[in-house]
Formats: sequence, structure tokens, C-alpha cells
Amino acid sequence: MTMNNQELWNRCIEFHGHSCGGLAIGFRAALYAKSLLDLDFSDDEQTVCVAENDSCSVDAVQVVLGCSVGKGNLLFHMTGKQAFSFYNRVTGKSVRLITRLKPQGMTKEQSFAYYRETPDEQLFEIKETRIPMPEEARLFESYICESCGELTASNWIRIREGKKLCIDCYQSYDRFHV
Ligand SMILES: [Zn+2]
Ligand SMILES: [Zn+2]
Repeated sequence: MTMNNQELWNRCIEFHGHSCGGLAIGFRAALYAKSLLDLDFSDDEQTVCVAENDSCSVDAVQVVLGCSVGKGNLLFHMTGKQAFSFYNRVTGKSVRLITRLKPQGMTKEQSFAYYRETPDEQLFEIKETRIPMPEEARLFESYICESCGELTASNWIRIREGKKLCIDCYQSYDRFHV
């Protein structure tokens, strides 16, 4: 079995809630990227993943590589493809992995076995990343929205007639004042 880390796989299932083919894709992609780019579990932002889907597979990437939305090292560039770009901030190396077309007419069970057992290079195509390495997460100062009074990070503040407004107030202003 190419999925040599049963314990890690079990943790993916625990995190995701069930075992499925999608989770297996993400698990394999994360492990493959780990070996290609010398990645470790990312306790900060050393490892970055840009996922091109928000399906089951992404959950395994979070568990295996420590990429998460909260840390700012899991980003989405939605194309609806089972493709992931991985970046190693320390070495500057990156890789984009996309699943190759799988043989047609597989049952759910066969397809799950396919995702578990097919060797890395047959399962994924290795491509160059198209997106430059995302910048590190920034801390933004915050302002109080002058309409609702709620504290809002500055990158989400919009200015309307000299007033600092949060996105929601800015948009409802648009709706009601045109
Ligand atoms: Zn799933
Ligand atoms: Zn507001």
C-alpha cells in the first residue's frame, strides 16, 4: 500500500468525518508534495497550499501539512479541478499537482482503491505553479465602522463620503441610497 501512514490517514478521517475517495486524493497529494518539496507539518506558514477546489480532498491537506485558513497558508483559487499548488517558503520551491484522468467505469469501491493504491506519478501530473508564492499573512489594523460601530480590519473598510464603512454597511448604503 502506498498509503504507508495509517495513523495519519485515520486522523484525516477523524477530522473530515468520513472516509472517501476525495479525502484519499488530498491525502495522497499532500504526502506527494511533502516528499517532492521536503515539507514538514507547518506550525506556522512555511508550507502554503493553494487549492483549486473546496471539496473533501482539502481536509486531508489541512491534517497532513498543517495548512489552514486561519493561519493564512491555505488559500483558494477556485477552478473546480482536483489540483493543488504547494509552496515551500524556506526553499522557495513549488509544485502544482493535478489528478490524471482515472480509468472509466469504476465502482465507488474500485475508485477508492484506485486513489489509495495507484503510485504517485500515475495518480498525479506534476506541473509548474502558475500562481506566484502568496505573500505571508499580514496583520491589518482595525477601524470602527461609522455606521454599525463594529470593529473591522482595515482591508475590508470602504470609504463613502469620507466615512469608513464595513462591507455590509457600504453595500446596504448602495442599495438604499441610489
Ligand atoms: Zn468526503
Ligand atoms: Zn458597518
